[in-house]
Amino acid sequence: MIKFTDARPKLKKAKQGSSKKTILNKLKAFLTATEPEVIKLLVSKWKTQGSSITYKELREAYLAGGMTKEQFLKWQQDYSKLINTILAPKWQQAADVVAQEVKAKYPYFVYEPMISASMDFIKEHGAELVTNLAREQKDALNAMIAHCSGYTAVTPDEVARIMRPCIGLTKPQALSNVRYRETVKAAYLKEHPNGKAETAEKKAANAAARYAAKQHRYRAQNIARTELAFAYNAGTYGATKDAQAQGFIGDCKKVWLTAYDERVCPICSKMDGEERNMDSVFSNGKMFPPGHPSCRCAVAYEEIPDTNLNL
Ligand SMILES: [Zn+2]
Repeated sequence: MIKFTDARPKLKKAKQGSSKKTILNKLKAFLTATEPEVIKLLVSKWKTQGSSITYKELREAYLAGGMTKEQFLKWQQDYSKLINTILAPKWQQAADVVAQEVKAKYPYFVYEPMISASMDFIKEHGAELVTNLAREQKDALNAMIAHCSGYTAVTPDEVARIMRPCIGLTKPQALSNVRYRETVKAAYLKEHPNGKAETAEKKAANAAARYAAKQHRYRAQNIARTELAFAYNAGTYGATKDAQAQGFIGDCKKVWLTAYDERVCPICSKMDGEERNMDSVFSNGKMFPPGHPSCRCAVAYEEIPDTNLNL
């Protein structure tokens, strides 16, 4: 059925430069508002995970040469809970923010969070993220176990003490923490040839714990930014799809927008301005940003003139 509506005055097209800035600034404002809480909750989650795993479990994992399947499943459940309670509401918030913007433009636009196109992306992505986080955790612990197996004269208890503060770190982070600990210990013994091994061990443990705290924060920041930017971009895509399904917007092309301020995305700089059909992937294989961890790029959806038969 063709709907007949009153002719609407053609909207003046905003200047490309200024609309690009507006879109990027909106994403930036969303990230600034939502990141701190996610960072805090992630860090405290890892703290809980670190203190809930016993030395006995870590020692057993070391002796067995790797983490058990049970532990992996426990972490998977843990992350699933984390995502449902912390990230999913933020993702929903991102989708809501974007949908409200569409509504401001088209007052009769109906937004149903549960059936919005953006939810499919968010659900699928949430499941992937749970698996990835649990797998990264297992890989990190297994890499530490393999690394410490190369030590001579180390007890399983010592290894458990080395591993515990590193729970929640990625494999490269965990290994860098272990190596840092070794450096601090060696430096102390070099400076104090008659120093006690116990004192050196204590100094190294404290230094490693301080370093781990910084590493946890860095990783939390990275996850928060990447995941929130994903939600925002998935929300924009979904809201545009919803508006198309309801006849407010015709066919669209999408344009990749790179953030140009103090921290340019070096990986994405070649993507800037790349255009694709709405449902095609960009040349980097992504439907929309983020293109990489901590990416702050966004997408503009531009209606192709004369493609909306409802107008
Ligand atoms: Zn980027």
